[in-house]
Amino acid sequence: MAEGSALAVPDPELAEYFIERIERYAQPKPRNRDRLSASQAHRCLRAVVLEAQGAKLPPVGIKGLLAFASGHAYHDLIQSAFQGDEFAIETEHKTKFVIGHSDLWIKRQSLMIDIKSMNVEDWCEFAASGKVKPEHVSQCTWYGAQEKCEFGAIVGVNKNGKIPAALKRKYTVSSDVIAAVRFRIDPTLAAEYEEKGRLALEHLDNDTIPPFEELPECRFCPVAAACAKAYRRESKEASRV
Ligand code: SF4
Repeated sequence: MAEGSALAVPDPELAEYFIERIERYAQPKPRNRDRLSASQAHRCLRAVVLEAQGAKLPPVGIKGLLAFASGHAYHDLIQSAFQGDEFAIETEHKTKFVIGHSDLWIKRQSLMIDIKSMNVEDWCEFAASGKVKPEHVSQCTWYGAQEKCEFGAIVGVNKNGKIPAALKRKYTVSSDVIAAVRFRIDPTLAAEYEEKGRLALEHLDNDTIPPFEELPECRFCPVAAACAKAYRRESKEASRV
């Protein structure tokens, strides 16, 4: 259509209709309840148990859904470049207490890979200094330990696709979009996840909740309302004893 055509007009109602439909139909699937998910194992145990017990979660809005979708698209793109017997993608790992799917296993290099998309500032720090979230290392370590890998690595994708000039001056990076950080697999980290999974399932079997503990993640906790309600109940019960 020609630029400036009187026939083309913004249609916020149509946009709103799309947003409303996407938010209604594209919500993430409920989590596995039989085992602790490796991608969730870093979280507060009380939150994990409350969520598995059915605590109501806030719906994921359009921005979060688009972020999930773009993350999945990066995974698909990278995984599509690693076909063949020497690679394994989306391998399911399952122990008695924990379950997860690894992104990519490069067998001949004994190397387990987890792919993470990041905003440009986090990505620059990751790429330039190797700064990586401990929970990302733990998750990849758990996958790697299941396959007796020697190494793990986080492959980070810069979601913005480019680096603003101010960040370019601050960080020295070898690529604008993909970086990798490698580490040695530490089986003791994987054992911590197993223990957490065991505790979570024990609480679920006994219909109990782990004690409240003030944590930095409380500020963003999706089950904070259920946690506070349980805390009030626990305090009342404690005052009766
Ligand atoms: S509010 Fe804090 S203590 Fe409660 S479940 Fe969430 S993270 Fe855990």
